[in-house]
Amino acid sequence: MRMNDYQFDKISGILSSIKEKSSFYGEKYKDIDLSKVKTQEDFEKLPFTDKNDLRDAYPLGLKAVPEKDIVRIHSSSGTTGTPVIIPYTQRDVEDWGTMFERCYRMAGLSSEDIVQITPGYGLWTAGIGFQYGAEKLGAMVIPMGPGNTEKQIKMMTDLHTTALCATSSYALLLSEEIKKRGIKDKISLKKGIIGSERWGDKMRQRIADDLGVELYDIYGLTEIYGPGIGISCSYENGIHMWDDYLYFEIIDPKTGEVLPDGQEGELVITTLLKEGAPLIRYRTHDLTRIITGECPCGSKYPRIDIITGRTDDMVKVKGTNIFPAQFDGVLSKIDGVESEYQIMIDHLDGKDLVTVFFETQVPEDQRPALEKEVVKQLKDAINILVIPKAVNIGDLPRSEKKTNRIFDNRY
Ligand code: ZN
Repeated sequence: MRMNDYQFDKISGILSSIKEKSSFYGEKYKDIDLSKVKTQEDFEKLPFTDKNDLRDAYPLGLKAVPEKDIVRIHSSSGTTGTPVIIPYTQRDVEDWGTMFERCYRMAGLSSEDIVQITPGYGLWTAGIGFQYGAEKLGAMVIPMGPGNTEKQIKMMTDLHTTALCATSSYALLLSEEIKKRGIKDKISLKKGIIGSERWGDKMRQRIADDLGVELYDIYGLTEIYGPGIGISCSYENGIHMWDDYLYFEIIDPKTGEVLPDGQEGELVITTLLKEGAPLIRYRTHDLTRIITGECPCGSKYPRIDIITGRTDDMVKVKGTNIFPAQFDGVLSKIDGVESEYQIMIDHLDGKDLVTVFFETQVPEDQRPALEKEVVKQLKDAINILVIPKAVNIGDLPRSEKKTNRIFDNRY
């Protein structure tokens, strides 16, 4: 994608002072003469920023303003212990709220809506982001946070919630509970705003059907404001991204080269307006592609595809690299296989064993045939021989957070 003039101006402005303002970038770019960055191609030669770098800046090494101008911090946890702390100025908080309000409007929400927020509050950016955006919209907010399904459903029915904000796994859990209780006619939900973890079409369809709602994928990450930097529209053909706040690139995760529009790779983001902790060429590790052409909804904001996975999700089995999304792709096309599945990878007697548990509604006597079909399709499509295990609907765990589908028990 070509950088537009506005984006190039903003980026040039940031580069002109970032070394003085941010000790983090002062160090990172100490051997680079940023005044020589005069074109998009020059910019594309700058080194990436990665989460590990941010961790090294703990606690406040990322700040690019005096500490008195910081009004809030958020933090993303890592798997390695040291968290990443992102400082926000008042303007950052407002900008984030403005982007989030835009997301709600894209999903067709207005001040008439009643928004129930189930993502967590606290150090991470989820709950509070959903909340401030909804307040800017003028909607009524029910700040539930995660868990307590009983109370969630009570509030939803008593207060006539019209929009549910949730992870896909929690939305699934709630939709199954509502179906089980037979209370669909008591709820007033019209829209679901679902955090952008990778989720298959079958899961989406079940949630949409059971709740009777339209679903929207909202995208974001704590390092770059939080959720709300882009959302799908009612045409469900990608996520519109707010390119007046952020600049997007898709790179080859191995070589770091910028890929042509349409090709799948890793999403890299540069902030254009962020004051507290500007980030330049930040690697999200999310895999997607830029969708070219105009969206039928008429929005001019560019689109990326639904996230298909993460570069760090990849597991190597029997010498083959596999992504969870590949399993999604195959399993979602097999009749009788429902949306929920789990993959266990074990190592026994010198061999990798891949067991696929999948939920189904087909009767016991038809399951061996279905299992055989699963083995065949996965073998044909991704060349992995699996051990199939059909289980009943509801047998696999539901989570309030993100669903983990691959369990690697080898290490
Ligand atoms: Zn659109």
